[in-house]
Amino acid sequence: MKKATIAVLRGDGIGKEVAPEAMKVINALADKFGYAIDYVHAPLGLEAYRLSSDTTPIPDETIAICRAADAIIKGPIGDDKGDKAPAGIVEKAVIAIRREFDLYANLRPCKIYPGFEYLSPLKDEKVRGVDFVIARENVSGLYPNRGRFEPGEIGEFGQDMAIYTRNDAHRIAKVAYDLARQRRKKVTIVAKKNVLASSRAFAQYAEEIAVQYPDVTTEYNHVDAVTMYLMSKPRDFDVILTTNMFGDILSDQAGGIMGGLGLAWSVNIGEKTVMYECVGGSAPDIAGENKANPLAMILSATEVFRYTLKDPKPSDLAQTIVQQILEDGWRTSDIARDTPSDKLLGTKEMGDKVVEFIKGR
Ligand code: NAD
Repeated sequence: MKKATIAVLRGDGIGKEVAPEAMKVINALADKFGYAIDYVHAPLGLEAYRLSSDTTPIPDETIAICRAADAIIKGPIGDDKGDKAPAGIVEKAVIAIRREFDLYANLRPCKIYPGFEYLSPLKDEKVRGVDFVIARENVSGLYPNRGRFEPGEIGEFGQDMAIYTRNDAHRIAKVAYDLARQRRKKVTIVAKKNVLASSRAFAQYAEEIAVQYPDVTTEYNHVDAVTMYLMSKPRDFDVILTTNMFGDILSDQAGGIMGGLGLAWSVNIGEKTVMYECVGGSAPDIAGENKANPLAMILSATEVFRYTLKDPKPSDLAQTIVQQILEDGWRTSDIARDTPSDKLLGTKEMGDKVVEFIKGR
């Protein structure tokens, strides 16, 4: 029996509902594939802020629990039903956890499941078959330096500094190229190298890794062109390898293409741990109503087998089963249409459905 301990930061709002569903599904996969998984819970976000004596959204005990675990599952954090999170605490917790665990690679898939073209604001024929992943460098570039014009300050100019070292670009590029090898073997490096020195460095260092993967096709595009191509020919992309800020912006655009957050998930890879996270926020408008779609959290959390336990089979099974469930017409309300073929489920029932399908395999 292979063992693992996962730190679960269920978060706020719908985090309290979707994280338990993800654990239920991991347990079902663990039973099937011979794993014993332990969970240790810790607060993060608004709950942590309210509980801790020094009003921090990321207490030291939470960091210690994550450090002792083999992996981290993070639910969405922020506003809860009727309880608004104080300004800045979400960003503080998210940035602190990324830095603390040096989570340098953020992978965000953008996939249009067959029959789900209607969710996208783009025309059906444009989005049919869209399936790409953004590999965003997550800890360097422009974002870690907070610049020289703090909010509220009065000055004559604002300044930021973007730095990319060879190591920064190499490690994210390796993740992107390894991923491309398991997919359609194409990487698009995205930066702004005609203008920015940090982009020239990022692209050049990324290309140094590209030569080690002769079986993977590499292309380069400026970020402004990519925003347009994502609208006009999103199917052309397989893995987009990009910098911190451009990845931030392009992943929101990718979220827009998918047309909803219920299926949007991500993985944050560090040297020592991996954090599994859904993309959306704490959705206070539906929190506590058993309406949240748990599939994003499930799709992310079940990647623990692939990235932490180095066993892709349970993760692949979870992906296949979610696709099967969607093809069979099972829906939470965020992705449902008012058609007779749509069979509506609540958060818990969707989690149960995934477990039922896993047991049936
Ligand atoms: P949100 O993502 O919480 O909600 C936007 C819309 O998407 C809402 O209508 C919500 O109901 C819906 N939605 C989101 N996830 C869903 C799911 N799994 N199933 C069904 N519907 C879903 O964004 P918001 O309302 O702008 O932010 C709410 C709080 O979340 C804020 O405090 C914000 O700061 C925080 N937030 C946190 C993260 C994070 O934890 N990384 C990310 C984004 C926002």
